[in-house]
Amino acid sequence: MRIPTALSVAAAVVMCVAPARAQEVVAIHAGRLVDVEHGQVLRDQLVLVRGERIEAVQPWPTRPPAGARVIDLSRATVAPGLIDCHTHLVDDIQSADVLAPLKRSSAQQVLVGVRQARATLLGGFTTVRDVGTYRAFLDVALRDAINDGTVIGPRMAVAGGYITVSTGGGEVAGMAPDITLPPEFRVGVANSPAEIREKVRVLIHGGVDLIKVIATGAVLTSGTNPGAPEFTEEEIHAAVSEAAEYGLFVAAHAHGAEGIKRAVRAGVRSIEHGSLIDDEGIRLMVEKGTYLVPDIYNGDYIAAVGKREGWPQEILRKNDETTDAQRQGFRKAVAVGVKIAFGTDAGVYPHGENARQLPYMVKYGMTPMQALQSATIVAARLIGWDDRLGSLAPGKYADLVAVDGDATANLETFTKVTFVMKGGVVYKEGGQPVGRAAAR
Ligand SMILES: [Zn+2]
Repeated sequence: MRIPTALSVAAAVVMCVAPARAQEVVAIHAGRLVDVEHGQVLRDQLVLVRGERIEAVQPWPTRPPAGARVIDLSRATVAPGLIDCHTHLVDDIQSADVLAPLKRSSAQQVLVGVRQARATLLGGFTTVRDVGTYRAFLDVALRDAINDGTVIGPRMAVAGGYITVSTGGGEVAGMAPDITLPPEFRVGVANSPAEIREKVRVLIHGGVDLIKVIATGAVLTSGTNPGAPEFTEEEIHAAVSEAAEYGLFVAAHAHGAEGIKRAVRAGVRSIEHGSLIDDEGIRLMVEKGTYLVPDIYNGDYIAAVGKREGWPQEILRKNDETTDAQRQGFRKAVAVGVKIAFGTDAGVYPHGENARQLPYMVKYGMTPMQALQSATIVAARLIGWDDRLGSLAPGKYADLVAVDGDATANLETFTKVTFVMKGGVVYKEGGQPVGRAAAR
């Protein structure tokens, strides 16, 4: 059965998020406003919000609009709500325990996700692209609970599970060979183009917004080699073409140079990690317009915490082998104009600290404006949601954040957002959670 309207169904779910007070008019006085569409910072602006949408953005008038509630951010920098294109909200922080995903029930795990979702929103991230869980579909449940107002969190585009080869980078690793995992951990396991098409359909019928393919081994999955391809180009193409039947994109986890090139040639929307990319791969990405989602912060976190907590040597070695190489590849990709969308692999490090990666992107070659664009408008284009979010423009959702002072000089400040609004509802003000976010 084909359901060509899957994307529009997902869009409709996002659209029906209810504002707390329908049609309330709010006048936000922004001292500095980050205009990511034009790459400039505007001074002294009015963002007029009606209900859950932005109605107008214009110079601050001599008097605020009559009847509007004024929010004074005149000493702050106001930016569109941030977007992280690579999170795992229902996964807890990685640890040395390979059995961790088997020690919790699905209910316990998704409730952990509730906490992570709140932390992510209060960290200034009003949208995430959540790229898979070991136990399939927990992210679908979390997304739906956020959309119907049960849970506080970012808007989510979710992958539902991983399309992976048996015992590949998307499987829970470390079991004895005669142990069989429960089926909910293996929903996306596929070993041929036909099986891939079947599993893509299963995930889409389960309500996902995108497909995640594990194209190479992984740093954090023991027994797999990040440099080694795990699918053929033909197999990845099977996922891309099947997903396209439903209007969905494919994101490919790929560290190794060969796996990256196979995925790009097969037509994936984005390369996740891209750690060991070579010049040919970079050239191909420019040519095909493929997005790169480079998690260049978390290598430092894994190295520090992994050493302290005694994570397995194999994982620490693979992390060392990919961290610096990834940053050098990132620098080259920035220089030649690869489309780069912000993504951090939150879940590997604590959720809510996603903005820590912004200064890293500047350190390795982006301007501060480019880094902010990657975490807003470019990210929105990657997901396919730039018609409704990613910049502060009339008609888009009133998703915005603020930080004290002139934040564009030093993006470290975005790790301390003082104000968060999503869909016209304020969740953080004066650096403190407010409204429903204040109740714990
Ligand atoms: Zn990941």
